[in-house]
Amino acid sequence: METSSKNRAVTNLEKPAVLVELKDLNKVFVTDEVETKALNNINLSIVAGEYLAITGPSGCGKSTLLSLLGLLDTPSSGQYQLAGHHTASIDKDERARIRNKEIGFIFQSFNLISDLTVAENIALPLTYRTDLSHRQRQQMVLASLEKVDLTHRAGHYPSQLSGGQQQRVAVARAIAGKPAIILADEPTGNLDSNNAEAVMTLLDELHHDGATICMVTHDLASAARSQRIIKVFDGQLIADKPTSDNATINSTLIETSAVAV
Ligand code: ADP
Ligand code: MG
Repeated sequence: METSSKNRAVTNLEKPAVLVELKDLNKVFVTDEVETKALNNINLSIVAGEYLAITGPSGCGKSTLLSLLGLLDTPSSGQYQLAGHHTASIDKDERARIRNKEIGFIFQSFNLISDLTVAENIALPLTYRTDLSHRQRQQMVLASLEKVDLTHRAGHYPSQLSGGQQQRVAVARAIAGKPAIILADEPTGNLDSNNAEAVMTLLDELHHDGATICMVTHDLASAARSQRIIKVFDGQLIADKPTSDNATINSTLIETSAVAV
């Protein structure tokens, strides 16, 4: 494996807090007695304020990794610490509480609930937040709608919006609760280039405002907008380099595109 960029300083933070720490993480799926080793001994640290891109060919384990990071699934073995919580030693309710508070997830297919309005979709994860008052939740919904420039669409339903607008609602839902980390799985994969650019610009702005972002992408130009590129191949983390290392980006991107489906 190439040199880890662990503990690398991040703009404006002299000693950035480690938000994510994965140690020897493995994930095995068993379907009809066939085992698939989706992740193989992953070690990874993410510090507050970082913007990471995860690249690699189809089926290499990117979404599995993001699902584990997002507490949507559990590892077969290994350790995962998120914002100081040892996630293996918590019960189901605590896990849900941490997920709702610390994680904002953006999916390729938006995953909005069709019979809830835009504002209701954004508010939904906040309803699980017992640490927030009703008024605080309302203010958070309004602020995030404003951030994605969709205040005028608050009462509309997802089917009344374009794909780009739906993904901006999904971004608003992900950021409304001010999570510790934003996880995005191919966030522009279902969008045309104009809408993709709008979503990428939003991510740039969120990062500029201090958000920690971990984005899976096949798109080379999108990966190049991050600060750090991680490459996964066959369940293993095979490269982890700052994006500013131009030689690395080029070789990473060329190799990735050569094997991508
Ligand atoms: P990527 O996002 O890089 O395309 P995935 O993480 O979706 O890859 O998948 C990694 C591997 O794990 C693939 O071989 C895939 O078929 C397998 N896999 C993913 N999810 C499941 C599941 N729920 N059950 C069985 N196998 C799965
Ligand atoms: Mg995937």
